[in-house]
Amino acid sequence: MGSESVQPVGRCCFCLLADDRGNMTVNIPTLLRPGVRLPVLGLGTWKSKPNEVSTAVRVAIGAGYRHIDTAWNYGNETEVGQGVRDALRDGTVERKELFIVTKLWCTFHRPEDVKLGIADSLNKLGLDYVDMYLMHGPQGFKGPKIRPTSDSDYDDTDYVHTWKAMESLVDEGLARSLGVSNFNSQQVDRVLQACRIKPVVNQVELHPYLPQLDLIKYCQSKDVILTAYSPFGSTPEVGNEPRLLEDPVVVAIGKRHRKSPAQVLLRYHLERGISVLAKSITPTRIRQNLEVFDFRLTEDDIRTLNSLDRNHRYVTWQ
Ligand code: NAP
Repeated sequence: MGSESVQPVGRCCFCLLADDRGNMTVNIPTLLRPGVRLPVLGLGTWKSKPNEVSTAVRVAIGAGYRHIDTAWNYGNETEVGQGVRDALRDGTVERKELFIVTKLWCTFHRPEDVKLGIADSLNKLGLDYVDMYLMHGPQGFKGPKIRPTSDSDYDDTDYVHTWKAMESLVDEGLARSLGVSNFNSQQVDRVLQACRIKPVVNQVELHPYLPQLDLIKYCQSKDVILTAYSPFGSTPEVGNEPRLLEDPVVVAIGKRHRKSPAQVLLRYHLERGISVLAKSITPTRIRQNLEVFDFRLTEDDIRTLNSLDRNHRYVTWQ
């Protein structure tokens, strides 16, 4: 895809706003769709341990994050919800300013189970509704195991039937909008053909080692927003995985712009109208990851970053 063809986000403004208490927070731009204002940068919470994620969420909201991404399968919705509720209680934000996303895990794909999935998430989060509910992946798993260990653990529910059940959640006010995750273009297309309520987002792994240019082109042609996960190369679990944050090309581009590799890797998405999730439990990094609205990558930078493609997935579903 020509990166040139997509409107960048947040041009050269690093907009600091003072809240009612005089604290400075970053004003994060939003991507607009009917009835949806999606803040382009969100806090990721996968692998954020329950005992650290409430503080991370609270720090992030204080710094200006409004989009918080979690999932039933992360096992930390209660603590993510605690951080959100702390920020609501102390008046840092109002509920309507936040964009809370959680996901239907694959063991809830049968239409009659979809409401159970969101009800459990809302109960854990301590919220009446989420701003966006995503189908975590296209393939259902048989419960009660939360991960398949053999072929017979896969559920044969068609994700289109799951989607139809998710649409009722919007009718009931439990989710304000819907999206999918880990869907390829054919799968997005099948949902688009059958849906009454359109998926706003497809959340997928995206970074220079996995640029997925065809998927981006397809989704953007259908007005489906891409949300990039694992922008830094996730939290490496095996020692020999390529280190995106240490890639000499990423480091050199950062030096030229006086930005960190992490900031370059976030801006890479924002430059192309893609929203992005940055996971951190470290307050300095949570704040540093917001400082991405005061510089622009060039078209050459984007082309160079795309050329790092090695079709490498950090997140596998094994
Ligand atoms: P990521 O955001 O690419 O990377 C997280 C790792 O980067 C953590 O180890 C974090 O460390 C570190 N980090 C954060 N900021 C940094 C900085 N400025 N400098 C250096 N290191 C930094 O990985 P991810 O968690 O895989 O992806 C982001 C989010 O996307 C997830 O948390 C989740 O919400 C979502 N996601 C969705 C799916 C899906 O299937 N839909 C899959 C994966 C992820 P510390 O935390 O120790 O600071």
